Order: sequence, then structure tokens, then C-alpha cells
Amino acid sequence: MFNLFSTQTNKATIGETLVTVKVGFSKYSASWFDSDFKLATQINSKKERNFKLPEESKLKFKQVQRYEIFYRKFYHKRIQQQIKTPVHPDYGEFKRFCATVLSQRLFHILKTALPQLITGRKELTINLNATNKYLENNLATHVYSNSTDNVIEMEFSGSAMTGRIYFLWLYAHKVDVSFLERTLTHELEHHLEHRKGMYLKEEETLKNIAEFMQLNPEAWKGSFPALFEVLCNLYAEGIATFVENRKANEVEIDFKQIQKLKQLLNKLSSLEKKSDAEKLVEKEFRFTVESGEYYLGRLMCYFIGLSILKQKQTEVMILSQGKLKLPFVELGLFLEKYGLVKLESLDEATFKETYAKLSQIKHHREFITMYTKACQELGLKDSLRIVDTKFYHKLLNNAAGSYKHCREVVMG
Ligand SMILES: [Zn+2]
Repeated sequence: MFNLFSTQTNKATIGETLVTVKVGFSKYSASWFDSDFKLATQINSKKERNFKLPEESKLKFKQVQRYEIFYRKFYHKRIQQQIKTPVHPDYGEFKRFCATVLSQRLFHILKTALPQLITGRKELTINLNATNKYLENNLATHVYSNSTDNVIEMEFSGSAMTGRIYFLWLYAHKVDVSFLERTLTHELEHHLEHRKGMYLKEEETLKNIAEFMQLNPEAWKGSFPALFEVLCNLYAEGIATFVENRKANEVEIDFKQIQKLKQLLNKLSSLEKKSDAEKLVEKEFRFTVESGEYYLGRLMCYFIGLSILKQKQTEVMILSQGKLKLPFVELGLFLEKYGLVKLESLDEATFKETYAKLSQIKHHREFITMYTKACQELGLKDSLRIVDTKFYHKLLNNAAGSYKHCREVVMG
């Protein structure tokens, strides 16, 4: 049953809007909290990080993720010095403290990065529930099935609350503000996509695909639904990761990684069996936010931003290869020559213009068209492109045989 004491409520009036944040702890019990706190203490008592990165096994991946929640290189030394002085972790205090910190971050994001969530609204409620599971892809998730125009529901890892908020606070008098802001912004951005109807549309299309495939079992390869989801995610996760990282100083572009992922997409599109396709996606595309469609989509957003920047100035700042200002006309050759480069992030004005343009998008196909135009404007040839229109058609043709045919079902 719903336990009143397991929910902490904070309210603030931002502009004209009354924002209520309810942080629920009914799924993250005191015993979960205790065991996480102990684990965090153990990990941080060690002198060095003595944990080998394991091979790609799911179980081990979860161990790495647990480790990463509690081990923050930046604070490790300080925590280690402090850890000899006993602290008294208290579940009640933990709940109150985390709810306050998370609410403040949410209010701040609504004021600064994503005011469009509150503009023109009298009230907005954010339900943020702590979970006891280690979410596979990331540490938070937007629950769109329970979200409406005025209610945003999210899940947030209780372990991350322990590790990145309360534990850090007790030992280092800090909370991991950057992590919290990035994570919350990412999920709030998903809510904006949800409000545009993107997810419902996607769900409907997936239903159409399933029906079509049942009626015409030989027509398409089993990979089609999985491929379709990855293509939708290029935009949905791309824009969320782009917004999440808006304060980063640099953007690393690794063409080896891009090529690898493109080859995997190609492979995915050609798989006959649905289960093989699902396995491939699970293994290669959703592991962390630094890989798969999150990575590709974010870079596609960034290149769209660069094409906007090019209209304003003639050079782009390179932060690797000895730091230099590179004329935009030489960008293609430069990327081809080095393969792994770091470029300066977009300035705030250009970021805002890019984000406004991206926010207009209502279908992932529009995103791919926009990206293709950006590549043309930047003079990037095929081998330097991520998922442009040509590659997109190739993937769809691999999986569906004829693009014209799948247009009827997929594009409506
Ligand atoms: Zn996401």
C-alpha cells in the first residue's frame, strides 16, 4: 500500500507555475539503502581502484555499473581520508536530504535549461520514484506511460541517490551536481518528446509493423522492428544526450567507433531472425549512454549545430592535434586525416539555435534529412557521415526489401 511517509514533497513557484516535486521511496527500502551504503564505504576504503573491467557479460556489466555509482575519482581521496571518522547514516535523513537536493536541481533546470516545460502552465507535478533495481541502460528513466501534460513521472536509481548524493555529502560535503543535472535534464527532455506525441506514434507504428509482418511473414526480415527502434532512438536519445551535455567543453568524434556502429547497423538490418536482432541491439546499442544510438544521435545533433555555426563564422576550434582554429572548408579533410578529434562545444547562442531547430522535429526521418543537409553544407563526404538519407534507405532496403513498400506501413 501507498505509504505516506515514503514520499517527500517539495514545492516552488517558478514564474507563473506552481511546481510540485514528489520523491517516492517505497521501492527503495531501508535495507537496500543500508547495503548500498556499506558497499560505497567498502569501495572507497580501498586505496586504489582495484577493479578490473570485465568482459562483456551482463552480470559483470552490472557490477561495473554498481562500482561506478559509488566510486567517483574526483572525490575519492577526500572520502578516503574522512572515512576513518565514523558517520551515522540515517534512512530518514537520507530520504529528506535526497528529496531536497533533487527538487532543487529540478527547479533549477526548469528555470534555466528547459523553461518550455512550465511556460503557460499553472501547475506541474513531477513524480520521481527511487528504484531498487540497477537500471540497465542508465540510472534514470522517464516513465511515459504514467506521464501526462501536467505530470512527469520518472524513476531514479536509489543506489545513485545513496552514492552520488547522500554518501558524498556525509564524507565530502558535496553532491554530484553535474551528474544530477545531466541525468534529470536528459529525462525531462524525453518528456518534451512525449508531449509532442513521439512515443505514442512510435508505439503505433511498431504495432502496424507487427501486424504487417504477421500477415506477410516472408516480406520483411525479422530485424525490422529492432532496426526501427534504433532509428527512432537516434533522434530521441540523440537530442536528450545533446541537451544533457550542453555544458561540456568539448566533443570527441571517433570515426573508428562510428564506422564500427555503422557496420553493426548494417549487420542488424540484414538479420533474418527477430531474436538475433534483439540480441544484437541489447549487446551493442544500449549498454551505456556513451555508445550506440546515444552516441551517434548526439554527434548528429552536434554536426547540425556546426552547420549553423558555419553560417556565422569561417573557422571552428579544434582542441586536439595541438589546438588550432581550422577553416570550415578544411574540416572534411581534417576529419578524414585524423579520425579521432576533439572539437570545441557549441557556444550558448548556437546551441540554443540548434536545439530550437531540433525541437521542431516530429519524426526521426526529418532528423536524418536535417543531418544530411548539414553534412552537405559542411562538405562531408559519405565516409564521414553517420546516418544520412542514403545510409538510412540502405538500412531500410536491407530489412524491408523495398523502401516504397515499407513506406506504406511505417510512414503512414
Ligand atoms: Zn534516454
